[in-house]
Amino acid sequence: MSFSVVIAQHRAKSILSRAIEHNRVHHAYLFSGPLGVGKEALALEMAKALFCKSEAEKPCNACANCRRIKTFQHPDLVFIFPSSAKNVDEERAILDSVVANPYRRDKPWATPTIGIEKIREIRHITTLKPLEGRRVVIIAQADKMTIPAANSLLKILEEPPDTMHLILTASHVSSMLPTILSRCQEIRLGPLPDNEIEKALIEREKIEPEYAKLYSRISQGSYSRALEWLDESFGKQRERAVEFLRCCLKDAKSQIDLVEHLVRSTDVKTIKDILSLILLWFRDALMLLEHGKAEQYIINFDQLETLDRFISAFDFIDFPAAFMHVENSIQMVERNIQINLILFVLMSKLRAVLQLKGRQL
Ligand SMILES: [Zn+2]
Repeated sequence: MSFSVVIAQHRAKSILSRAIEHNRVHHAYLFSGPLGVGKEALALEMAKALFCKSEAEKPCNACANCRRIKTFQHPDLVFIFPSSAKNVDEERAILDSVVANPYRRDKPWATPTIGIEKIREIRHITTLKPLEGRRVVIIAQADKMTIPAANSLLKILEEPPDTMHLILTASHVSSMLPTILSRCQEIRLGPLPDNEIEKALIEREKIEPEYAKLYSRISQGSYSRALEWLDESFGKQRERAVEFLRCCLKDAKSQIDLVEHLVRSTDVKTIKDILSLILLWFRDALMLLEHGKAEQYIINFDQLETLDRFISAFDFIDFPAAFMHVENSIQMVERNIQINLILFVLMSKLRAVLQLKGRQL
């Protein structure tokens, strides 16, 4: 199937395939959607399709042009991205990581902005004739453009050269200039279904099926997030989540110590991950109560015994209240309000929803 590098996103693929087939490709596209759903992967596949020499389905992934796009060696492909790289070698290293896996996010890629000098580069390039009749310019994470950069891009969009196709990708469309948005055809990419992430983890990363299922369920529709879980020693974060729950039943001093240690030794993202794993733990505990040890219902399938000890330690667990308290805390952590306090309050709220039988976990 065409665009096979891109996981799911069947609607977007079919719109673009049809545009290529009928030779009705727009001059400017905006691929929007959450992080890690394949926006850059799709932009690169679209570039391949535009240059592909195959008479059959495009992109073929086999012709010289498809291969040159894949490795960023095509002279008529320009790929701009937010970067703190200090020199050409560092930029190349980032591109190499995109070549290896367009879903994998690197730290330098995720933080900085796209400055006006990058857009000036594009404006300069557009004055030159492309070697193969057309040029594809991809601006990845275009929502990271500075205001001067965005204004400069607008000038290109107002009078785009006939030979140029511009593809922007963005997660936060609302922060972009409306005058840019109105000149692009937006194609929205939604979160990926769990089963598609699971399949891709098994096929592409050679992950054992049970673990693929687990990671897919905690990745919130983002394949990049699933890859991050693989890198981040998932087991360690889960231990922290269980330790947090155990600590809910301890005295105030132990709780303060644990919260302070967590906040000192991790970052906001890790705290959110730990809270998400606490949610998952409650979800599995509920499943275990309702369905017994039927593994198909349990995501933390390798922790059945610990989960079993957890539920049998309590007379009653108020699950709806537990879900609500943890979800509220995740939202507050996202807004970066007094994280110590949020976690400390969460502990006391969870203590209230867990009615102990009188023995320790
Ligand atoms: Zn090809």
